[in-house]
Amino acid sequence: MQITAEHVIKFIETVAARIKDQRDYLTQLDSAIGDADHGVNLDRGFSTVVGKLTSVADKDVGSILKTVGSTLVSTVGGASGPLYGTAFLRAGMATADRFELGPDDVVVALEAALEGIQSRGKSTRGEKTMIDAIGPGVDALKAALGTGDDFVTALRTSLAACEAGMKATIPMLATKGRASYLGERSIGHQDPGATSAHLMARALLDVVEGLQP
Ligand code: ADP
Ligand code: MG
Repeated sequence: MQITAEHVIKFIETVAARIKDQRDYLTQLDSAIGDADHGVNLDRGFSTVVGKLTSVADKDVGSILKTVGSTLVSTVGGASGPLYGTAFLRAGMATADRFELGPDDVVVALEAALEGIQSRGKSTRGEKTMIDAIGPGVDALKAALGTGDDFVTALRTSLAACEAGMKATIPMLATKGRASYLGERSIGHQDPGATSAHLMARALLDVVEGLQP
């Protein structure tokens, strides 16, 4: 199965629509351990992104993803803007000049995105951040493809790992980002960034599932 530039645009539009839909929920999660702006931040960023998609519709996947990344960096004020922005920029660098991606190319792009977030955020797993959902999701996707699973099956396994990672943030003590200011009081709440990352993983599965004959 090949992912085209058109499919990537569909994925971004789906992410934008679902963030708009889940904006209040994401913001509510951030009100418990942050400053109640995560959903608002991402909705602002992705709404601006959607307005730019027509101008890159005929471009390669790398150019599309880089446009998404630079727009998020410049329009989202919170920590999540530079972090997700870096993720999309790195994924764009990994897919430069490509008009089609196979499943393994998607893994390479996601690994680059994860590495980008970790280096930008100086974060690692277990700190109650988006990394705790993205890391297990990327690992599971790679492992499932490695055992010969088709792309949709591998993405389903990946989404399950991402969801488990998101839920695993609930008992964690936050040691990065705004939630870390709360110390022990950060325990018992699901991380907003891990939740938005899970939303993106579901959007990816749904778009790829929709491509099946
Ligand atoms: P802010 O915290 O500046 O208000 P947001 O509310 O938009 O920004 O995003 C908060 C989310 O960003 C957190 O839930 C967490 O997942 C993620 N985050 C914050 N700092 C880091 C970091 N250093 N590394 C990875 N993710 C981080
Ligand atoms: Mg916030």
